[in-house]
Amino acid sequence: MAPKYVYFFGEGKADGKADMKHLLGGKGANLAEMTNIGIPVPPGFTITTEVCDAYYKNKQQYPKGLDKEIAQNLSMLEKLMGAKLGDSNNPLLVSVRSGAAASMPGMMDTVLNLGLNPETVMGLIKKTGNERFTWDAYRRFISMFGDVVMGIERHYFEEILDKYKKKSRVKNDTDLTTEQLKNIVEEYKEIYKKNAREPFPNNPAEQLHRAIQAVFASWNNPRAIKYRQLYEIKGLIGTAVNVQAMVFGNMGDHSATGVCFTRNPSTGENKFYGEFLINAQGEDVVAGIRTPEPIANLEKEMPAVYKQLFKYKNILEKHFKDVQDIEFTIQENRLFMLQTRNGKRTAPAAIKIAVDMVKEKLIDKKTAISRIDPNQLDQLLHPTFDPKAKREVIAEGLPASPGAATGRVVFSAEQAERLAEKNEQVILVRKETSPEDIGGMHVSQGILTTSGGMTSHAAVVARGMGKCCIAGCSAIHVDYKKQLFKVDGKVIREGTFISLDGSSGEVMMGNVATLVPKLSDDFATLMTWADEIRKLKVRTNADTKIDARKAREFGAEGIGLCRTEHMFFGENRIDFVRQMILSAPDVKNLKTKIAYIQKEISNAQNNKINVLKKDLARAQNEIKYPMTAYMSALKKLLPMQRRDFEQIFKEMDGLPVTIRLLDPPLHEFLPQEENNQREIAKRMKISFQEIQEKVSALHELNPMLGHRGCRLGITYPEIYEMQVQAIIEAACNMKKKGIIIYPEIMLPLISTEKELIILKELIQKNAKEIMEKKGVKVNYLIGTMIELPRAALIADNIARHAEFFSFGTNDLTQMTFGFSRDDVGSFVPEYIDNEILEKDPFQVLDQEGVGKLIQIGINGGRSTRKELKIGICGEHGGNPQTVSFCHGIGMDYVSCSPFRVPIARLAAAHAALEQPVSRATI
Ligand code: ADP
Ligand code: MG
Ligand code: MG
Repeated sequence: MAPKYVYFFGEGKADGKADMKHLLGGKGANLAEMTNIGIPVPPGFTITTEVCDAYYKNKQQYPKGLDKEIAQNLSMLEKLMGAKLGDSNNPLLVSVRSGAAASMPGMMDTVLNLGLNPETVMGLIKKTGNERFTWDAYRRFISMFGDVVMGIERHYFEEILDKYKKKSRVKNDTDLTTEQLKNIVEEYKEIYKKNAREPFPNNPAEQLHRAIQAVFASWNNPRAIKYRQLYEIKGLIGTAVNVQAMVFGNMGDHSATGVCFTRNPSTGENKFYGEFLINAQGEDVVAGIRTPEPIANLEKEMPAVYKQLFKYKNILEKHFKDVQDIEFTIQENRLFMLQTRNGKRTAPAAIKIAVDMVKEKLIDKKTAISRIDPNQLDQLLHPTFDPKAKREVIAEGLPASPGAATGRVVFSAEQAERLAEKNEQVILVRKETSPEDIGGMHVSQGILTTSGGMTSHAAVVARGMGKCCIAGCSAIHVDYKKQLFKVDGKVIREGTFISLDGSSGEVMMGNVATLVPKLSDDFATLMTWADEIRKLKVRTNADTKIDARKAREFGAEGIGLCRTEHMFFGENRIDFVRQMILSAPDVKNLKTKIAYIQKEISNAQNNKINVLKKDLARAQNEIKYPMTAYMSALKKLLPMQRRDFEQIFKEMDGLPVTIRLLDPPLHEFLPQEENNQREIAKRMKISFQEIQEKVSALHELNPMLGHRGCRLGITYPEIYEMQVQAIIEAACNMKKKGIIIYPEIMLPLISTEKELIILKELIQKNAKEIMEKKGVKVNYLIGTMIELPRAALIADNIARHAEFFSFGTNDLTQMTFGFSRDDVGSFVPEYIDNEILEKDPFQVLDQEGVGKLIQIGINGGRSTRKELKIGICGEHGGNPQTVSFCHGIGMDYVSCSPFRVPIARLAAAHAALEQPVSRATI
């Protein structure tokens, strides 16, 4: 059988139906469906998307047989309408409309009133008796055809229209007289001729042929291509073309055109919503030609038509079981439906609608869940700017972390903290941020950086904190010395109010009003449904009791990653941390030296021993001073860490808490800038030179590949011992108070089995002593991060000693690709543009490569220890695609920042719906 290229709809019967969107486009499929269920739709036919595909594949040649099919369908249409295209007594007019499977509103083209020429105009006047309307239709047709088919910009036509309106001092196109419309048609033809270098085509068959071609061509106009990129619309073969008999909303005061939604798309309220315009056509409502009236007015102006419209919108919503966005036209009191599709809606509306529809028994819970895009929830969880507030945008950067922030400009983390103490709201403006700015970032409303990308330090940390951040705003030039920034000739000094829109990347002057988000009961309802469905647990990454509390409110089922180093930056601690770090390398060197001499002594000849013994005594003496400083710093830090853990255990009463021992390289805690180094030297009563020497001694060429993670625990065991003591003591103390605790101690950056054996022993030995001393027994687990490829590859051996695995996918991605995550801004965007990479692998987990390592790690781990608990704690844990992947490969939980917990819960429910049988169990 030859393929069918054209599908007819009309007279209550259609060749197509709603589920044929891929072939007929959304518009065509739904026009067919509406026809089938008895909704009044002007008849017509749809040329399939396959024709579009063939057209592009075969050097813009149509498939054979298409012309014949179009001719047959056209004559069916003509018979049904009792009018003929181009008939000078009884002309048929049609619209030629685009429409792909995915809705791309306004991206492609449509021509209305096709079929008019000097003869058919006369015929239409005779037929309708409405001269003014006919000329109005004609002028619209010429301008649309000129625009869509010949690419003549609309403003040429609009200028002429404006000229006439001005001349006769009227505001609206409806006030123009027939005579004026006639003249406008003539001038339009002139403009057409001038720009197209040919006269306006009068032959309706030619008009039709060229309009169809233009619609196919519009599939690949830059606008449409960009739209598909932006919304990641993939896998479509092209647009369909709908040729449809015209109905006219511009026939006078009993005619109108409008757009309506079955429910309010911005609040979700179940109330008919929409707008219409009397005596208008097509896009007039949307284009703002005149101010449209609210749909409620239609009830007064055309009660019978309104009643019909109300009935049809109910039928349509019931039929499609979702909010419908409907286009309609009223021709002399007769109602026609021209389009229906699922309405786009805001996040709050989406939730309300989904929950309401379950209550109305229109859809089930699973459908309700699947209708909410997890990413959309982001909108709900952060404050937003009042849409009514005025915006004075001064610059635009990367929207690195959503939210709406206003506050005074400050240029250093210290200043941020000083002002925050006085309850000032501040915005931290930096060229870039570094780990030492954490404290200042934490107290700021928002963060603005002038360099760095979506995965820069500022961006990652801000997202983790759920804080608004704009990164890479290169139009802004910061002058730290003068405490100001310049942008576009403006000078903004410290203390000035600015506002950041983290969703758009806009930097604005002044204090733009914000709205605090309020989570609705519907939101809570929806989340409990999601929890019923999902298999994956959702934990949070939280370093403080405040984060922990927030996350628990959002439904976190434990902490998957508590980073102890963030606690080190806290007030009055950093100096002790620094004291510890400044003495630690000496301790280490001297210890090595002592061990070496001791070994020498045991092997040495008698005559040498005395010399060696002297050396030993000197070294043992020498170590005293740094050892004292080192141990006393650790002693100071111990109660502080213990208190932190106590607070977190209390907050997480009854839930597991995974605490990672110290991870970053030590130099991150020391100031890199000279003036800061001097200040600290003074405060700590040591010489500036000494600090400088230590900083340079700790300097590494590749700190990410350097002395960090468990390597610190191996070389500076006292630090890990102090941390274990703090954790176990906190656990004992809280247990005594009746709090239910599940501590999990996690070792970072393990790459060999031996590292794990040594450190596990260290933990167990210390924990045992402390519990004996305290007279309390706590059950705790010891596990490891899997964040190095080697660890994933030898996971079977590692699992002999680890009671849980947590995949640290930030490092694992970095180490697998060999991309430094702090430097990817310089090339990854280009990689994505050139389709070398589909996505930034630091945002969306690379399933092909990194995912494979994870799979190997899981298989290895579980082959040794069947019920090994496995989770993920990289930033990816809050990304819906990654959550789906984690569900599929059989992880137990994902852990993400507090603000992404609801997103992960919903994404996990989606994953459970889409993959009821996990791949891991097959
Ligand atoms: P878009 O996809 O951009 O919405 P449409 O194909 O829906 O474009 O058409 C643009 C406008 O023209 C809409 O308002 C639509 O209702 C109107 N329109 C399209 N075809 C007809 C027709 N046959 N009769 C009357 N109005 C029409
Ligand atoms: Mg439309
Ligand atoms: Mg790591």
